[in-house]
Amino acid sequence: MGSVLVTGGAGYIGSHTCVELLECGREVIVIDNFVNSSYESIKRVQDITGKKMKFFEGDMRDRDFLRSVFSENEVDSVIHFAGLKAVGESCEVPLEYYDNNLNSLIALCETMAGFNVKKLVFSSSATVYGDNQPPYNENMKPGLITNPYGRTKYMAEQILSDLSISDGEWSILILRYFNPIGAHESGKIGEDPKGIPNNLMPYILKVAIGELPELKVFGGDYKTPDGTCIRDYIHVVDLAKGHISALKKLDKFKGFDIYNLGTGKGCSVLELINKFEEVCKVNLNYSVGDRRDGDLPVCFADTSKAEKQLNWKAKYDIGRMCEDSWRWQISNPKGYKR
Ligand code: NAD
Ligand code: UDP
Repeated sequence: MGSVLVTGGAGYIGSHTCVELLECGREVIVIDNFVNSSYESIKRVQDITGKKMKFFEGDMRDRDFLRSVFSENEVDSVIHFAGLKAVGESCEVPLEYYDNNLNSLIALCETMAGFNVKKLVFSSSATVYGDNQPPYNENMKPGLITNPYGRTKYMAEQILSDLSISDGEWSILILRYFNPIGAHESGKIGEDPKGIPNNLMPYILKVAIGELPELKVFGGDYKTPDGTCIRDYIHVVDLAKGHISALKKLDKFKGFDIYNLGTGKGCSVLELINKFEEVCKVNLNYSVGDRRDGDLPVCFADTSKAEKQLNWKAKYDIGRMCEDSWRWQISNPKGYKR
């Protein structure tokens, strides 16, 4: 069997997926340009697993670079994580987001086709469901997407759907992630955001460790049981394992399909804070403030399709997600910078 090419493999979800791939005996090749990561995560993945990966530093939009990687290696399938993902930033620099996220995908697919590699797993997001009514299932029409980042994911899905219609040899699976948090149980790899975090768990961690003074809960007047927003948080290791299941499906499937990767359970901002305080034995300084623009009150997955067809189900609960996130944070107060 040839190698799995993991684009964006130095990033948060990519690094956890590399661990799972290596642990199930796959040969792994990583491409990353470190725009949002560092080489340290690659070293740590090898350290955790005791196995080597091949690594190529470069930009996914660079076709000559991609051709050199494909010609030097026997690639069997590709998991495409590489992309920019900050919602707020995508509103400030939309062209960078469209350029990076869409031109990378097109360059990748053209190169794959040129080398007759036609098995692809693509990282999409629950954001494409927009303002649909949860639980979200894969048959729903996309809802109102409120930011350029979300639109790049929707457009990418369309590009891949069109590609599979034009050439029946492709096997393409779209995975729509809900809210990944947590870290590998070793505490050696985890999410390492640059600057002040935008997402809830990284922000909680910075407050818990004393780097930021206070967590603002964005809105306490939503029509939810405790007034705060509800999300479907999923342990990043469960998410990573979902990619192994998707690769297995690619081996016996042609065409295009979409799967949600979530737990199917909603958790409010206050529930997550309370659970974090309980299992990590830390008091979090927080207060309830104004709503954040563009936030949906409730977002959670219908996971039945992935359970039935990928034979995959998330197993870690919120307590474990908090515990593993905290272990990563206290073992690496400055992230990968040591
Ligand atoms: P991440 O930023 O940690 O990882 C992405 C990696 O891609 C980084 O290492 C970055 O350096 C690399 N990269 C970006 N552009 C590149 C380019 N042009 N060439 C080469 N490398 C490039 O993000 P993540 O959280 O691991 O997310 C992985 C994927 O999953 C992304 O596509 C993201 O949009 C998607 N996703 C993430 C979430 C989430 O909450 N983390 C939710 C839904 C979907
Ligand atoms: N949130 C919050 N304070 C923060 C960051 C996030 O209250 O500092 C809330 C946010 O309003 C949302 C939930 O936490 O309801 C999850 O936010 P995140 O940005 O992590 O994920 P997303 O909103 O993209 O699903």
